[in-house]
Amino acid sequence: MLLTFQQAKQQVLQSVSTIKSLTHEKIGLFDALDRITAENVISPMNVPQFDNSAMDGYAVRLADLKQSTLLPLAGAIFAGDDISNLHWPQGTCLRIMTGAPVPNDADAVVMQEQTEKSDLGITFLSNVKAGDNIRRIGEDVKKGAITVKKGTKLTIPTLSTLATLGISDLVVFKKLKVAILSTGDELTPIGEPLSGNGAIYDSNRFTLKLLLSKLNCEIVDLGIIVDDPNQIKQALISASNQADLVITSGGVSVGDADYTKTALEELGTINFWKMAIKPGKPFAFGKIGNALFCGLPGNPVSTLVTFYQLVQPLILALSGLEDSSKDLSFKVKTATNLKKSIGRLDFQRGMLQINAQGELEVSTTGAQGSHITQSFNQANCFIVLEQERGNVAKGELVTVELFNALLK
Ligand code: AMP
Ligand code: MG
Repeated sequence: MLLTFQQAKQQVLQSVSTIKSLTHEKIGLFDALDRITAENVISPMNVPQFDNSAMDGYAVRLADLKQSTLLPLAGAIFAGDDISNLHWPQGTCLRIMTGAPVPNDADAVVMQEQTEKSDLGITFLSNVKAGDNIRRIGEDVKKGAITVKKGTKLTIPTLSTLATLGISDLVVFKKLKVAILSTGDELTPIGEPLSGNGAIYDSNRFTLKLLLSKLNCEIVDLGIIVDDPNQIKQALISASNQADLVITSGGVSVGDADYTKTALEELGTINFWKMAIKPGKPFAFGKIGNALFCGLPGNPVSTLVTFYQLVQPLILALSGLEDSSKDLSFKVKTATNLKKSIGRLDFQRGMLQINAQGELEVSTTGAQGSHITQSFNQANCFIVLEQERGNVAKGELVTVELFNALLK
């Protein structure tokens, strides 16, 4: 019995605890995008640091407004002003700008649009409540609060919050070191003329490099290794000595030149080397020395799908991510028939779109062979078809999983 995808994923993620966690480094805020925090980030201050105005308008005391809705103007406060020596007589109001500090004894700020200005002062036209348009100290972030938890992937909005706290550097996990290599006598590096009639370009190693750099890994590129058991073994030893994770492409199936699996067996341990998914049935997972090992199938679509579905969550977990939020997945009707054989979980590529009735629906991107790289073109989601399901007719409900940032 082949492992199901869920069983395979569980085994992959369980292996994370067998690897020692990454060390830390302090980096500048600007370099921290997509890095993962290695410590809780505690706010050194309140934001806002002082009560301030949310509007351009007038600061008032409610007691004064009870006496009269017309109050003479006693002065103005601008953003950045120091108001510690401000004199504000009873029975008057103050002009105040957005972001300017609100005096302690002001009860509210009234927006300019709800007032009328005359030579006598300001007439307040609306009902004013205590606290109106005052942004309170600490309302956004409280001093001493955990602002970002350890194990969080840093996004632009999160870094922006840290910038409002004046934080200019922070402690993150060091980058995960990942060694990659391609296996195959047929492979030629891109940029060189094809080496013979049966030759093809080594597109997988190129793709892996892009994926890994997007996941902020440090890449050790061991190049192309020919289909020779000894050379593959030597390369795997060297890879596992240099990296936390080794990723290979090709050579994990049952062909006569598929040596990666046997090399793994001899050098380390295999957890599994097949699973019930399509594309990507041959996928070897195990450990060599202190490094985890993922042997991806050679077909480019299988490489990309298995990387996305299994290696990506593994890398994020190894990189220290704790709050791995689930990718968005939901059910919609398919607008096209979908070919499917019973027995494996399919990750077909789909286009999620809005139809003429304004409803969400998904259609296939066309031929889904594991060598059809164009099946990813136009795709914005996976159509995830259950292992026991057969052909799917137009109009049936299917599960779609929106691509996350890795494929955009
Ligand atoms: P394999 O898993 O080694 O049997 O390879 C399966 C298919 O993927 C074959 O058609 C290979 O030529 C192709 N393939 C293997 N490695 C790569 C690679 N690095 N880039 C592109 N295609 C590859
Ligand atoms: Mg091969």
